[in-house]
Amino acid sequence: MQKIQMVDLAGQYKQIRNEIDSGIREVIETTAFINGPMVRNLTRGLEEYLGVSHCLPCANGTDALQIALMAIGVKPGDEVITVPFTFVATVEVVALLGLKPVFVDVDPDTMMMDMDQVEAKISSRTKAVIPVHLFGQAAPMEDLMALAEKHDFRVIEDNAQAIGCKYRFRDGSTAMAGTIGHIGTTSFYPTKNLGGYGDGGAIFTNDDSLAAAIRTITNHGSDRKYYYDSIGVNSRLDSFQAAVLVAKLAKLDQYNAARKQAADYYDQQLTGIHQVTVPARTSHSDHVFHQYTIRVTDGRRDALQQYLGEQGIPSMIYYPVPLHLSEAYKSFGYNAGDFPVSEQLSSEVLSLPMHTELTAEQLDHIIFHIRNFFA
Ligand SMILES: *Cc1c(COP(=O)(O)O)cnc(C)c1O
Repeated sequence: MQKIQMVDLAGQYKQIRNEIDSGIREVIETTAFINGPMVRNLTRGLEEYLGVSHCLPCANGTDALQIALMAIGVKPGDEVITVPFTFVATVEVVALLGLKPVFVDVDPDTMMMDMDQVEAKISSRTKAVIPVHLFGQAAPMEDLMALAEKHDFRVIEDNAQAIGCKYRFRDGSTAMAGTIGHIGTTSFYPTKNLGGYGDGGAIFTNDDSLAAAIRTITNHGSDRKYYYDSIGVNSRLDSFQAAVLVAKLAKLDQYNAARKQAADYYDQQLTGIHQVTVPARTSHSDHVFHQYTIRVTDGRRDALQQYLGEQGIPSMIYYPVPLHLSEAYKSFGYNAGDFPVSEQLSSEVLSLPMHTELTAEQLDHIIFHIRNFFA
């Protein structure tokens, strides 16, 4: 049996070597290193795939969030509502721009923003809400968009973990995650469902004026070379990354299906273990299983992780400390106990190996040892 990894990028590369290598060679031979045709191929491809009017590439998923906030015209002291149970980038950009992160707790089953708690946190300074489509499924966007209309704030979807996930509205219509809010952002970090071979990111919107603002901000606040109308940043997607991503976008649905197949098997085999809760699936969205994250409810999460490690089975804790209790964000004045669901999840979650190349033998080996631990 091949050594089990959290993510197997080398195994995946072997299957698509020709497409990747020829794309990278094309970038070198055309010397179109910055904003060349390969970047355009990717953004057009994503616009078509997601059914969105504008895909604006940038350097990484963290920049994408920062640029999205800048594009809606935030001012220091404005408030942004988001969750403490997420990757740090979501909250980091809020703090960096001098804004105040206002947290709401997550739902214990889906681990995503509890929309019932949002309205109570809205104030006259609320400029945006950032739901995070955690681990591969979408937060309940329909109710949030109704609130946004009522209270006049912007919604920025952090879609770094759920690209390719489809959302179903109550009337039966669908839209891709990341295209429902005023702006959506994603990351092409190598281990993401659509990952490059380095950093990358993108911003999505159906709003022409937001798209124009985003384009200007990513280009130093400039529409015309050497004339600057606003303060911007330098955040571009590398053409080499675009070449990798063009090849992998063509396979994204297939990759997400492979993840789901592995997840279905985990579900089926782990459901009977009463100390383990398998990931809940929402009715309003697909699950593209960026992570397969179980909850270990008997207090032995860390012991299970150690045991699995001894059997050569990697696992990860996403996320061990909710952000309101992280050292860097203590100054916002939150305390232990403020977001009990996030705090409890941090002590119970364990993400198992999840990627496109997992074999039945590897899955059986992982499952055998999880059962063995609890036997
Ligand atoms: C990965 C990730 C980001 C940041 O992406 P980078 O490309 O690493 O900057 C932001 N939010 C979430 C939820 C992520 O998982």
